[in-house]
Amino acid sequence: MAASPTPPAWNRETDPFVELISAEAITRRVAELGARITADYAELGAGEDVVVLGVLKGSVIFMADLVRHIALPLTLDFIGVASYGDATVSSGVVQITQDLTRPIEHKHVLVVEDIVDTGHTVHYLMENLATRKPASIKLCSLLHKPERAERQVHIDYLGFTIPNKFVVGYGLDVAQRYRNLPFIGHVAQP
Ligand code: 5GP
Repeated sequence: MAASPTPPAWNRETDPFVELISAEAITRRVAELGARITADYAELGAGEDVVVLGVLKGSVIFMADLVRHIALPLTLDFIGVASYGDATVSSGVVQITQDLTRPIEHKHVLVVEDIVDTGHTVHYLMENLATRKPASIKLCSLLHKPERAERQVHIDYLGFTIPNKFVVGYGLDVAQRYRNLPFIGHVAQP
């Protein structure tokens, strides 16, 4: 773990961030994931496009970088989910707040998540999407916190396994902020 980088000049808060995963390490890993996904879906025939499905809002920065490393015909869509609980504890009650714009029946769906924590959100989401009869459905998650698992979730493509810390940056927020940090960090305890 690197020492705390100087908080960005735009940060008006006093939160000191400890860097957990550098921007360079993220870049390398995202390229590797994209190459694996490209290889795994390479045999699809004409008309069998992949739908890359981003889970709002935490996955958008990861998704934007990832799809530029997937050398296949694909389309993008988004789904919004809310997990009720306080800012840092998932309750296990999940609701769709914004649905897909197009049907996924007979499509090859790749769900892109920011983090699998307790697993409740992804478990609910994968079950819900499966009822829409996609040709296939796989999960790509940037982060996984196995210590917090309450649901068994199969992650087909995983960026990084992390310790049980509340992380921010590269799409992940605290109260909607810090999504634009280029690295992944956690707020250091005083
Ligand atoms: P789960 O249902 O797996 O417990 O939680 C999934 C959602 O909780 C994630 O998609 C994310 O929005 C949020 N979450 C879980 N852990 C973290 C974390 O360490 N940092 C941030 N910013 N969000 C988290």
